[in-house]
Amino acid sequence: MKIRPPDGVKKISRRLIAHDFQAFLVGGAVRDALLGREVKDYDLATDASPADVLRLFPRVIPTGLKHGTVTILEGGGQYEVTTFRLEGEYQDRRRPESVTWTSDIVEDLGRRDFTINAMAYDFSTNELLDPFGGKADLDRKIIRAIGDAEERLREDALRILRAVRIASQLEFSIEPATYKALEANAGLLTRISSERVRDEFNKILETGEPSSGLAVLGRLGLIALLLPELEACRGVAQPALHCFDVFTHSLYSCDGAPADNREVRLAALFHDIGKPPTRSANQRDEPCFYSHEKTGALMARDILTRLRYPGRVVDKVTHLIRCHMWMYEETWTDAAVRRFVRRVGREHLHDLFLLRRADQYGMCRRPIDPLPLIEFERRIDALLAAAHALSLKDLAVNGDDLMRELRLSEGEAVGVILDFLLESVLDDPALNERERLLTLARRFREERLP
Ligand code: ATP
Ligand code: MG
Repeated sequence: MKIRPPDGVKKISRRLIAHDFQAFLVGGAVRDALLGREVKDYDLATDASPADVLRLFPRVIPTGLKHGTVTILEGGGQYEVTTFRLEGEYQDRRRPESVTWTSDIVEDLGRRDFTINAMAYDFSTNELLDPFGGKADLDRKIIRAIGDAEERLREDALRILRAVRIASQLEFSIEPATYKALEANAGLLTRISSERVRDEFNKILETGEPSSGLAVLGRLGLIALLLPELEACRGVAQPALHCFDVFTHSLYSCDGAPADNREVRLAALFHDIGKPPTRSANQRDEPCFYSHEKTGALMARDILTRLRYPGRVVDKVTHLIRCHMWMYEETWTDAAVRRFVRRVGREHLHDLFLLRRADQYGMCRRPIDPLPLIEFERRIDALLAAAHALSLKDLAVNGDDLMRELRLSEGEAVGVILDFLLESVLDDPALNERERLLTLARRFREERLP
């Protein structure tokens, strides 16, 4: 078997072997190399104890020392080296963390989740070690638990999500006995920490077609368990332009967002989550969902916080959802376009347009005429290029100026006047000069402020 690891990995393995230790490439790296896929991280396993590894390598980070894992810096890369062990960090929280070392690589492979993840490449012989038939399952494109699937899932329920995630990443199917065990044990996932769930969920979102992984989660009852708000979208009918109910539309919208843009993918998946609770009907008995973007933004904030997404991601995604319902027409005035830019924020425009494209794709699962959107984008670009004031910080006066010139003491009045000035400038950019703004501000104070 031929594997071409980076120089750093070769050096590490040579050094281990030179000191009479074993050195294997394990896990995802072997799987991906055999598939001819890009290998993301090269993980090594050895019978050397963590203390030995620390001694042999000067540049190490003790990342997970109690699980026997250290990160070695070598040849410009970072590689995890883990001492063979029987079980470890993958246990649920009820059991004390305990790690038992072993000198037998086969035992180490046996504690892993799926056959295709339990192969090792022996650096001393250049041979593949495959005690559980991983290679055959790779060839058949099958995800199969090692040993008794039920038992393995009960040891660590995260494996349920890992099975779905890896199947959708590789476009594999899940072997029937393993699938049955997933169905029977789906409820165990409530025991797993939100962070671990989120990390797997992210990987499903990054696949070429997240709708397929999400559909499997749905069939297993995991959408109902993890994202009941999304489950509630099932069967919710949409107006005539749409081909699908809200649930299916959400999944296909997610497909329509760029794979490398997590925030837009999340926003696309959840953009219509506010529809079930705001559902009503118009006079012609068509479904309508007033203010679903506002309700939906609040609900998405709940979901994302629950899944422990960073605040920055939560804010971004909810903002995109709150802003997703604009209907541009050529008749919009320049002032209306400037108001739109102000409401969305310059830095979010690009993503909001990506969300709109995703939303449109999800309507009937096909791209739609891109021209109207492009027209709107051009118009915005032209207005932006004109360098008009579009936010408070672009105004020719600031709060300090107002306080000084109008003898205002700090407080609400300053904010109210600044908002008024920006509104005026959005209507008429020519007003954005210091003296004109101060005159406007004085008049506003006399006429409108008590
Ligand atoms: P990725 O491409 O996402 O890195 P991976 O299979 O390498 O996929 P990792 O989380 O990096 O996944 O784990 C490395 C290896 O550790 C896996 O291939 C598997 O052998 C083992 N492993 C990881 N998580 C578990 C788990 N929950 N239960 C059992 N074995 C696991
Ligand atoms: Mg990996």
